[in-house]
Parts: sequence; C-alpha cells; structure tokens
Amino acid sequence: MTRISTDILVSGGGVAGLTAAALFGSAGFRVICVDPAPPVTEETADGADLRTTAFLQPSLKVLQQAGLWDRLAPFATDLQVMRIVDAGGKTPAPRITRDFNARDVSSLPFGWNLPNWLLRREMVARVAELPNVDFRPGIGTKSVLTRDAEALVTLTDGTRVSARLLVAADGRNSPVREAVGIGARTIRYGQKALAFAVTHPEPHHNVSTEIHRSGGPFTLVPLPDRDGKPCSAIVWMERGPEALRLAAMPEAEFNAEMTARSGAIYGPLNLVTRRTVWPIISQIAHSFRADRTALVAEAAHVVPPIGAQGLNMSLADLRVLLELCRAAPAQIGEPAMLELYHRRRYPEVAARVTGIDVLNRTSMQGAPAIRDLRAAGIASLYALKPVRKTLMQLGMGARG
Ligand SMILES: Cc1cc2nc3c(=O)[nH]c(=O)nc-3n(C[C@H](O)[C@H](O)[C@H](O)COP(=O)(O)OP(=O)(O)OC[C@H]3O[C@@H](n4cnc5c(N)ncnc54)[C@H](O)[C@@H]3O)c2cc1C
Repeated sequence: MTRISTDILVSGGGVAGLTAAALFGSAGFRVICVDPAPPVTEETADGADLRTTAFLQPSLKVLQQAGLWDRLAPFATDLQVMRIVDAGGKTPAPRITRDFNARDVSSLPFGWNLPNWLLRREMVARVAELPNVDFRPGIGTKSVLTRDAEALVTLTDGTRVSARLLVAADGRNSPVREAVGIGARTIRYGQKALAFAVTHPEPHHNVSTEIHRSGGPFTLVPLPDRDGKPCSAIVWMERGPEALRLAAMPEAEFNAEMTARSGAIYGPLNLVTRRTVWPIISQIAHSFRADRTALVAEAAHVVPPIGAQGLNMSLADLRVLLELCRAAPAQIGEPAMLELYHRRRYPEVAARVTGIDVLNRTSMQGAPAIRDLRAAGIASLYALKPVRKTLMQLGMGARG
C-alpha cells in the first residue's frame, strides 16, 4: 500500500476544489487534489456543466492569487449593469425595472461571467503548471481518520495520504463531511433550475437581468457573441414538475415559451445548447471545521442561484483559509486555526443563506407587495445599492 504525506489534501475537483488546489499551490503549499469524476472540459461533451458563473468583484483577487485570472480574462464577459425586473402582472410583460450600474460605485464592472466547463478547462491547465500540486482525477476519497497531528485519508486506489489539512470541497453530499460526523440543515423548495445558453437579435449591452414573476427568477447573464449574434446564459427557476415539462418540450415550443417568460426584452430567444436541470436547495453545515478538516464551498453551504452568490461565497472561504495558512504556516490544520476559520466564515455565510432563502421564497410566490424589498435585497447581494456606498465598497473586497 502506497503512503504519502502532504500539506493539504483537497477532496473534490469541482470548480471550488480546483480553485483551492491552484490557490494553495500558488502560495507554495504541497497539495494533492482528488476527484472520482474526471473534469469535463468541452461544452459539447456528455456531462458538460453548462452553467455559467458570475464572479463578483471580491472574487477577482482570489482568482489572481490562484494564477487563474490571466487565463480566464480573455473569455470573461463584463457585467456592468444589474437589472431587476418585476413581471408579476397578468401577462409576463415587464412592469417595474430597477437598474444598478457598477459605474456609480466603482471603475470596474460588478462582475465577470464565464462558462463553468471553460473554468474547469483553464483550472486543470493551471494546476498542471504547478509542480507542487498533484491532481488525481478518477480517484476519490474513500475513508477519513482524523488525529491530532494529521488527517489520514484512504483513497479509492488504496493510497493512504497523511495531510496536515484536509479541505472538503466534495460537494453538497460531501463524503468528508459525513466521515467527520458534521450534520447539515437543509431546506427543500421543490424547485429546479434550467441552465442553458441562447442567442437573440437585440444586444445585451453587458446588462445582467433578473426577471421575477412566479416559480422563481428568470435570469439572463451576458456571454460573448455566438454565431455572430448576441448571446446570454439563462437560469430559469420553476417548481420541479414545471421545470421538467419545460426541459422535455420540443425546441420550437420551448423557444416561444421562454421568449414569453423573458418579456421579449431581447426579441425572440433561440436555444443554442442542451438544457440542463439542477435541483435547488438551501443548506448549511452545522460547523465548518472538524479535527484537521475545513469544509468549503458546497460541502459547507448551498444556496439557490439568486444574486450569483454560491461560488463567490466559496472563493471567500478559500481566501480566509489561505490567509490563515499563510499567517502561521507551521500551524496549518491545528485546532486554533480551524476555529478561526469557522468563526470568520460561519456567521456571514449563515446570514447570506437566510437572506437568499427569503428572496427565493418571495420570488416563488411572485408576491407583488414585497417587490421593492426584493429588488433592494437582490441589489445588496450584488453589493450595488448606491445609497450604501461605503458599506458596499467594503463589501467589494475590503472585508477581512
Ligand atoms: C443553475 C445554477 C447557477 C449558478 N450560478 C452561479 C453564479 O453565477 N455565481 C456563483 O457564484 N455561483 C453560482 N452557482 C453555484 C455554483 O455553481 C456552485 O457553487 C458550484 O458549482 C459548486 O461547486 P463545488 O465545487 O462546491 O461543488 P461540485 O461542483 O458539486 O464539486 C464537488 C466535486 O466533488 C467530487 N466528489 C464527490 N465525491 C467525492 C469523493 N469521495 N472524493 C473526492 N471528490 C468527490 C464530485 O465528483 C465533484 O466534482 C450556480 C448554481 C446553479 C445550480
């Protein structure tokens, strides 16, 4: 049986796990990253993740520190304006529109949009550049035994790894979280999200638009032109049976139905990728730490895709963890460090999970009486509410 030791073992090579491997590797730590499912790095391949990620300003620094931003920037679409539309009347026509322009508060856009399959491609390439990062796709975490001095992890190929710190980035059903005995509070909405890309005749002008009616928001996020036409990524949230009906609908009918749901703001929408379906839940682990173990990303928290929070919260987890590891490299994975990690992340994550839960419930009901509150709430998630300039600027990266 092979036995190896490392500073950090990252369990999970999804977008969060690969970012963790690149980030800790770029900082000079010895990293092993494992995932039983090899990453799918082409848009048209089976199993490709057709979601996109809107990275908000505070995530930029993490991507830079991970050596990823230079690779990603050429493919990123600026998100300059966040538009929240209420279409809760008898017809799906837009009734009230609120715009939040990043220009009012910053010289940068409020975020950048990138396809998830492309993120994986660039992240895999980045970790391959780092001699101190050992990425092992096709191999998973099998069992975990934590001791004072180390986490002893047995991999599915029989290798035993002794790590000073085990980073659980192995998703919402995290095997590591289960192995170390941390429970989670889960809220199920009976809701699913369809994620796909469309082209349309009208340009998006780098505006990201969230349209609220009922069942959940319908969000159009800018992408680069495709086949010479303006292009957007769409996340369409609906109650489960309705989402499945839409996913199975013949394409021409689907195009007509989503154009109507969009209020035809960009003219007729034309589907250009597969439709992928994602179950929607809220979840937060009871604790973000165990002996020698830190939970990050969806292993620690899951939120509905409103306000582009999920992965951005995950990168904030990694930023804090890296700061703590750098501040005391000799003590990585020790109880005091992990306690600090938990204390710095848990309250903020818990507040966001609660806030997004409320926004999602109001959007599902389409309740018109609270639409102003909803618009303000969503805008504050994007850190773009002009009247709270100072707070917002703090939220854009200054928070410790
Ligand atoms: C429709 C939709 C749109 C979204 N849009 C945004 C957005 O715009 N902005 C944003 O910030 N967030 C967004 N999110 C959230 C974001 O997509 C997720 O936070 C992110 O993809 C989750 O990444 P992850 O790496 O934590 O989990 P996962 O992608 O689930 O990765 C977990 C990995 O762990 C692996 N694994 C499983 N078992 C083991 C094992 N035994 N050992 C090792 N590895 C294992 C799995 O194979 C998997 O690769 C969106 C989510 C949805 C559903």
